[in-house]
Amino acid sequence: MVYLSIGGNLGDVPGAFQKALEGLKEAGFRVMAVSSAYRNPAMGCEPGAPDFWNWAVRGEWDGTPEELLSVTQAQEVALGRPKDHPHWHSRTLDIDIIACNGEKRDTPELTLPHPRWQERDFVKIPLSEVLDSKDIE
Ligand code: ADP
Ligand code: MG
Repeated sequence: MVYLSIGGNLGDVPGAFQKALEGLKEAGFRVMAVSSAYRNPAMGCEPGAPDFWNWAVRGEWDGTPEELLSVTQAQEVALGRPKDHPHWHSRTLDIDIIACNGEKRDTPELTLPHPRWQERDFVKIPLSEVLDSKDIE
């Protein structure tokens, strides 16, 4: 099982989210559950940053986590995120892989499970709507 946290705060974020779901499906990601949309104040962004939209998605992916990351990053770029975008800055769409088929990774390019998801209500609350079991291995 795969859990994604998807959020953004610039432009037509719900439209970008729908496009990202279509792009993920075209790449072979099977969407099983989508949370409600949550609005959250921008945390740690530049002053005056617009509120975020946040969702969680549960799905199935047959490839490696690295292959999934390249798909999610291609969607971020296709939806207008510059490659050299700073951390914690406003963005059209940010797609974080929270967990992928119980795999563990420990590099800056890919850390699984996502190291900070349990500290972030904007991740945890949408995720609780789509969780298939209590635990993310
Ligand atoms: P944040 O999501 O914390 O705001 P960014 O999206 O700007 O930060 O960070 C993107 C970087 O995080 C990418 O270079 C990506 O390789 C790396 N990364 C590490 N682990 C993950 C993960 N589990 N999901 C998505 N990106 C990850
Ligand atoms: Mg990210």
